Amino acid sequence: MKKILVVEDEPAVREMIAFVLRQNGYTVLEAGDAEQARARLHQDPPALILMDWMLPGASGIELTRELKADPLTRDIPLIMLTARGEEDDKVRGLESGADDYVTKPFSPRELSARIQAILRRVAPHASEAPVETGPLRLDPVAHRVEHDGRALDLGPTEFRLLHFLMTHPDRVYSRARLLDRVWGTNVYIEERTVDVHIRRLRKALEPYGAAGLIQTVRGAGYRFSPTP
Ligand code: CA
Repeated sequence: MKKILVVEDEPAVREMIAFVLRQNGYTVLEAGDAEQARARLHQDPPALILMDWMLPGASGIELTRELKADPLTRDIPLIMLTARGEEDDKVRGLESGADDYVTKPFSPRELSARIQAILRRVAPHASEAPVETGPLRLDPVAHRVEHDGRALDLGPTEFRLLHFLMTHPDRVYSRARLLDRVWGTNVYIEERTVDVHIRRLRKALEPYGAAGLIQTVRGAGYRFSPTP
């Protein structure tokens, strides 16, 4: 059952939304403010976040910005809920990183249709699904990488890097782009750090003859490609 985190400070509204979601077969996690939302997210990452615009303390917009800058939460789809229906607000909501926008008051049917649409849209990138490339298999949930059934020993950064590359094959990524996507934009790290981790990753793949999966594209960056 998919979990949805509802971040909404008004208990009556939160309860109403939770009721609708449960009726649609979702498991619901609730948070009344930004702090509770962060705690829930770290305990139990949901498949989707419903974020109210108006929250006490950090606003829904600020919290959305924060979550979308954090590599641990940035890929969780987020729908912003708001009483404002103005075009400017819609733009601000989307600019903060929200994936969609629902204006209050909304019907239960409208809300569940939007949720389904977003979940369908993100399904191919679902970060929980195991990825396979030839004999290489990475399972994000079990945090395990295998080559022909033999486990590879990878550090956490190499693991994240390999996960990103395996889910984005045959595309060239510059060091800056990899830093942004794998490390997150809110950290300052020198670009040559990427080279260090690529080197470690290749070293881990080498005994299996798989180091060639990660190719250096001169002057551009790196590419993960099953075909040399
Ligand atoms: Ca509110």
